[in-house]
Amino acid sequence: MRKQVVPGSFSLMKKMNTSLILNTIREKGPVSRAEIAKITGLTPATVTNITAELIKCHLILEAERGESSGGRKPVMLRINSNGYYVIGVYIGSKAVEIIVANLNSDSIYSDGLEIDSSIPNEVVLDKIVQKISTWMKANKDKKILGVGVGVHGLVKSREGISIYAPNLGWENVPVKDILESELNVPVFVDNDVRTMTLGESWFGIAKDISNFVFIYVGYGIGGSVVIDNQLYRGITEGAGEIGHTTIEVNGPRCSCGNFGCLQALASEQAIVNRVKEILSNGEKSIINEWVGGNLCRISPEIIFEAALNNDNVALRVVKEKAACLGIGVANLINTFNPSMVIINGRIIKLGKIIMECIQKEVGRRSMKYLQDSTKITFSSLSQNAVLKGAVALVLSETFENPEIVYSSYKTK
Ligand SMILES: [Zn+2]
Repeated sequence: MRKQVVPGSFSLMKKMNTSLILNTIREKGPVSRAEIAKITGLTPATVTNITAELIKCHLILEAERGESSGGRKPVMLRINSNGYYVIGVYIGSKAVEIIVANLNSDSIYSDGLEIDSSIPNEVVLDKIVQKISTWMKANKDKKILGVGVGVHGLVKSREGISIYAPNLGWENVPVKDILESELNVPVFVDNDVRTMTLGESWFGIAKDISNFVFIYVGYGIGGSVVIDNQLYRGITEGAGEIGHTTIEVNGPRCSCGNFGCLQALASEQAIVNRVKEILSNGEKSIINEWVGGNLCRISPEIIFEAALNNDNVALRVVKEKAACLGIGVANLINTFNPSMVIINGRIIKLGKIIMECIQKEVGRRSMKYLQDSTKITFSSLSQNAVLKGAVALVLSETFENPEIVYSSYKTK
């Protein structure tokens, strides 16, 4: 955490070199000291000194010996995945999920609770604190690097404030300050879609990708953009509102007040609304049977299941909505020229049913030269993306600023 830096205790150069070595070991490990020097351009002496400190504070360890290119086999270094643990929290619209994971994001504990907008934010945060501190007290031998929190809605990430979470009714909730003062560990907060994006980048399909766009299709549609390995946040941290780009000039009204937004056309809500509209006009569908004729019971899951069962209405609607999504993807390809567009959300279980429609629109509407260099794909983390990302929130800060660990280690 930035504010924990003691002036003069950790020079900028050393911090940058430590971060560089740590990230090289994370990306390339197991890797020898000689290879690290070659990759980073640092002197062998610097690599030896810094890796010795990283071993001392248990962030990395000496693994098996590697292949020799003549002479002694080199000692390989890798991240000490169980040297520290990270707590990941997802505050969604209806539930909170909590995991404790090692540095590989492998979960060793999980918990959760149901929430809704009738529960005050103080109560929700207090319950989260109770669950985490109970675990921490029972596991004092496990060193915790920090807590990462993905929150639905608008978030000011640096300050860790939930500016506006419409489905929870939260406004200006200082999530970071509250959790830090109660738990006494660094806390990092970001919005859920950006957190998922970080998850894809650290542990998912975008692991080796430096320029990509991420789209989440849920009740709404959110997105974020990674440019040269950095999340692009925009001037007021509002970048990525892909769901509110206009796709159809005279389209349906969106919750933001505009007409024809991507979200109003292709979100789960839009899919449900369209199916309801068709069924109330008397068309036959297996969905009617499944909900016992009560259209209020239609949910995205039911529609996706019906589509997988070749139901005509469900198929027609998801394909129509996937085509709208394809228009959104084409616009993003033309704007950002990413090497990958990743789509996540429950809808991805429809696989090639929707992918073909997305690809077709992209083929028609984005520039040929640009579309050829972009791979459109589904998330590999699926519903785990937020929690993996919450873990990555802590790791990305720690690996960027290893003095967090150095200083805490010195005080122990
Ligand atoms: Zn909108």
